[in-house]
Amino acid sequence: MGLLSNLRLVVRRARGGTRPCSHLRQIRNVRRGSEGCEECLAQGDTWVHLRMCMTCGKVGCCDSSKNKHAHRHADIASHPIARSLEPGEDWMWCYVDDVLVDAAP
Ligand SMILES: [Zn+2]
Ligand SMILES: [Zn+2]
Ligand SMILES: [Zn+2]
Repeated sequence: MGLLSNLRLVVRRARGGTRPCSHLRQIRNVRRGSEGCEECLAQGDTWVHLRMCMTCGKVGCCDSSKNKHAHRHADIASHPIARSLEPGEDWMWCYVDDVLVDAAP
């Protein structure tokens, strides 16, 4: 697991302020941990969208899902950045700064 060296990251848009994300160093070259939300699968629950932790690869459900496992994992594990696992979406979100982090083209 190394840092993504060939990926230049920019904060494309900030919600509720202009504070940039200071957690880009926590982005790793992770491998997806599970097909669906790990904790929802364990408790037989369902989710709306999936997010993957960019520090450890854990798959969790989004804030529109009732369990919000991705957000909870970010808080508990101090892994602030998760990416969308929805088809065609490659943006990342920092739960600490509330900003969208996107790979520059
Ligand atoms: Zn951040
Ligand atoms: Zn979940
Ligand atoms: Zn994590």
